[in-house]
Amino acid sequence: MSETLLREETSAWEAALFQLEEAADVLGLDQGMRDLLASPKRVLTVAVPVRRDDGRLEVFTGYRVHHNVTRGPAKGGIRYHPMVSLDEIKALAMWMTWKCAVVGIPFGGAKGGVVVDPTTLSRGELERLTRRYAAELLPIIGPEKDIPAPDVNTDDQVMAWIMDTFSVNQGYSVPGIVTGKPIAIGGSEGRRGATALGVMYCLFMALRERGLQPSDVTVAIQGYGKVGSAVALFLHDAGCKVVAVSDVRGGVHNARGLNPQALSRHRRATGSPTVSTYPGADRISNEELVGLDVDVFIPAALEGVIRGDNVDQVKASIMVEAANGPTTPAADKVLNDRGCLVVPDVLANAGGVTVSYFEWVQDIQAYFWSEDQVGQRMRRVMERAYEEVSAFAQERGLSMRQAAQVIGIGRVADAHATRGLFP
Ligand code: NAD
Repeated sequence: MSETLLREETSAWEAALFQLEEAADVLGLDQGMRDLLASPKRVLTVAVPVRRDDGRLEVFTGYRVHHNVTRGPAKGGIRYHPMVSLDEIKALAMWMTWKCAVVGIPFGGAKGGVVVDPTTLSRGELERLTRRYAAELLPIIGPEKDIPAPDVNTDDQVMAWIMDTFSVNQGYSVPGIVTGKPIAIGGSEGRRGATALGVMYCLFMALRERGLQPSDVTVAIQGYGKVGSAVALFLHDAGCKVVAVSDVRGGVHNARGLNPQALSRHRRATGSPTVSTYPGADRISNEELVGLDVDVFIPAALEGVIRGDNVDQVKASIMVEAANGPTTPAADKVLNDRGCLVVPDVLANAGGVTVSYFEWVQDIQAYFWSEDQVGQRMRRVMERAYEEVSAFAQERGLSMRQAAQVIGIGRVADAHATRGLFP
């Protein structure tokens, strides 16, 4: 695994603070407001004791960070990964705050994580870890306080266990406590593919700006999880040529184009945990995937994968950040100087939190929408946000990332100024 390599250089937290400073300069924010926006409102570290199947007791560390709740309840995913750190969770929570503001949904930003490699847990251990972690978060989560969702290595089943744990403690069902949960317990139609669809809409908007059609472009996707695999499928169906995909164990490349459906069938049939065993293509490493001669690169894995030391290999002229924080500030500058159109994470992957917002609204109203209604409303939100960011970028001579950050951070700063300071 090349995770250490992929995550060196600028940390996610340093990158998030750098972006905040840059936007604060454009907005002319005073030092007090900068300090307020740079500070997470609430940080909780919990011990998560878990009984392993062999009878041993093992204690894991979990975090939940509320970065800012000035515009609404805290919202953000829960990640299970051995490299989770408090700084990473703080950065991801901050990006959630700006993301919700960029697409104009009434949430603040949160993130959570447990330092664990979930592939080493049995299903029973995963459930006990999830339930105990959720129980430790009880004082700070709730439909009006903080609504978790899936992120790296967590899914709808994990959300169902959190919903059940919270509900059992309340004494009644509380579907609005999490989003991204199964439809059977109050999940929303269209949530599963929402992040990937939002990524696709952003790519289409970017292609339109450059006078291109989906069928004109080749695409490489790093990360083949919930988001990356769905992006591959949607883009393939829309006529793009997806030539390479990868996961943590490596990737595959076929210049004539991959068929994501055949790839998924192969994985199901063989039980392979990785795309890299797919026989219909050449094996490549994650490093090779980054340097492929493609038109579009879509990072859909972890932070800090495009850095100062590998950005020169990137040949794509459009990058749509499905992952959070995949590009370090140093690499971002190189890409912008080179004319690469980077659609930033806080815009590109906001389709997920947008439909999470719809799910929360449906749960609270106990009134559910059709997949078409969800899809159309999400598309409108994403296209409007893209247009707003793009127009602002052009008007002010900013990159798409700078424009999105300025819009998002400006809205949060405005909310603070309007509410005033207690006491
Ligand atoms: P996931 O756990 O379903 O998938 C992650 C994928 O990345 C897996 O294929 C894994 O093998 C791969 N991966 C992990 N480390 C890698 C590495 N070092 N190199 C290459 N591939 C690697 O997670 P996900 O939910 O698809 O999330 C992916 C990214 O999208 C994350 O940055 C997440 O924060 C972001 N995101 C997810 C959602 C969502 O709705 N799930 C919403 C917004 C943003």
